[in-house]
Amino acid sequence: MNNKNNQLQRIQKIVIVGGGTAGWMAAAMLARAMGQLVKIQLIESDDIGTIGVGEATIPQIKLFNNALGLEENDFLRNTQGTLKLGIQFNNWARQGDSYMHAFGGIGIDAGMLDFYQYWLKSLHAGNTSSLWDYSLNAAAAKNNRFEKMEVVGDTRLPGIRYAYHFDASLFAKYLRSYCEKLSVTRTEGKIIDVKLREHDGFIESVALENGEIIGGDLFIDCSGFRGLLIEGALKTGYDDWSHWLPCDSAVAVPCASAAPLLPYTKATAHGAGWQWRIPLQYRTGNGHVYSSRFMSVDEATAILLKNLDGEPLADSRPIKFTTGMRKKFWNKNCVALGLASGFMEPLESTSIHLVQFALGKLIDMFPRQNFTQIDIDEYNRQLKTETEYIRDFLILHYHATERTDTPFWNYCRTMSVPESVTRKMQLFKASGRIYREANELFTEVGWLQVMLGQRIAPEAYHSLADALTPEQLNEYLSNVKTIVNKAAGMLPQHSEYILKNCAAKNL
Ligand SMILES: Cc1cc2nc3c(=O)[nH]c(=O)nc-3n(C[C@H](O)[C@H](O)[C@H](O)COP(=O)(O)OP(=O)(O)OC[C@H]3O[C@@H](n4cnc5c(N)ncnc54)[C@H](O)[C@@H]3O)c2cc1C
Repeated sequence: MNNKNNQLQRIQKIVIVGGGTAGWMAAAMLARAMGQLVKIQLIESDDIGTIGVGEATIPQIKLFNNALGLEENDFLRNTQGTLKLGIQFNNWARQGDSYMHAFGGIGIDAGMLDFYQYWLKSLHAGNTSSLWDYSLNAAAAKNNRFEKMEVVGDTRLPGIRYAYHFDASLFAKYLRSYCEKLSVTRTEGKIIDVKLREHDGFIESVALENGEIIGGDLFIDCSGFRGLLIEGALKTGYDDWSHWLPCDSAVAVPCASAAPLLPYTKATAHGAGWQWRIPLQYRTGNGHVYSSRFMSVDEATAILLKNLDGEPLADSRPIKFTTGMRKKFWNKNCVALGLASGFMEPLESTSIHLVQFALGKLIDMFPRQNFTQIDIDEYNRQLKTETEYIRDFLILHYHATERTDTPFWNYCRTMSVPESVTRKMQLFKASGRIYREANELFTEVGWLQVMLGQRIAPEAYHSLADALTPEQLNEYLSNVKTIVNKAAGMLPQHSEYILKNCAAKNL
């Protein structure tokens, strides 16, 4: 009985190593969920600092903020945040191409079919309208408009679906002040040693430069790329995906804002990678993600600086990374989050989402002192699956290209890719069908937009769409388009929305 009671002992103390976005997200969510039951201590080093990028998100971030009880306008005001309706991809399949991965649904489904099957039928009949003519998010983005809207009037057209752009360091600061109210202890100092328990290799404590020893039951490694605990101490290993996602470097620089204030992220492909533009209230975040096998840092920096919307506000900063994931996200009594757990480039703004996803799973499978291995295995399995689905979606952007103008694009176009990607591309091309795997992050509509945007043209459409006569089809499509345009036209400008609801103090 005693032995059983020992095994059921609760975790008494969590130590979070790192105070970047991942560390403070972990502290906030764990404190909110179990702050009364567990002590939480966060250690960060001002000398080392944070990565300082990571400013574009996907709509799931709202679930995180809601779970913390954050008020949206207060959050946007304090993080210089703006609203995001999707990502515009320029020059990806061919130079001069532009398409949007807009959040939310497209069109109004009819009968048992998704809207896009009717649209595909209309293409076969000679219609030249674009899929994005039927997306409210895309129409609003095109005209720089934003307003919150669940559904469009009394129609079945889905409303606006949105995420945020924000200043990463202000977000961490905002979460820090949230955590201080929930009695998370913060310790400033540099960890110089990690002590493992002799009998089982679990982490016992970390030692700071000033001699302080900090022990705990569960350690969350949010130490960034260095993976101080998960790799430095536990030697967990890393799966490298650079052969599928060959970008391994970035240069980042903020610049002055240029009007209009865009409600979307831009991802513009260059000769050996792509450039992000993330509009915040008072500046624009920019970066050039590229492959060092195909481009030097000087060339990448020159391209970035030549393609800014405004004056640079700081020196450009180089960043190196290895795309991939840890062989285990959770190893012994250590859970790695954020950059310590792995990294995929920010093409679809998924890293902060993965922190949030992992935290949800950790709370769901929260351990006791005995750390049941089958729970740990299940956590690792679910994280791996989610990460691999996102990896596949990113690979699609590079592989489904017609570009032949540089060695980089030739490599991407001809490289071998996971079977799961080839299968999806071939299925869509042959019959216009898309299936979402299990609960994968990106829905059919996400895959649809990127496959079409990357010029994969389906050779067929679902035969049920033939139930509509050409006249009925025209009327149906034109009605949806009218609803979309009318609704988009009524929305205020994004900048007006911000001024009215959530303008940051220094504006
Ligand atoms: C180029 C680039 C662009 C990105 N863009 C996006 C994006 O648009 N959207 C998105 O969702 N994500 C993006 N990301 C990812 C995003 O930046 C990270 O997921 C997020 O910032 C989390 O970082 P982190 O907290 O894991 O690491 P970091 O910010 O690096 O924080 C590490 C922390 O650990 C501490 N630390 C390290 N070593 C020690 C030590 N020895 N002792 C004490 N403390 C220590 C540091 O002081 C710091 O507080 C991007 C990443 C890169 C590289």
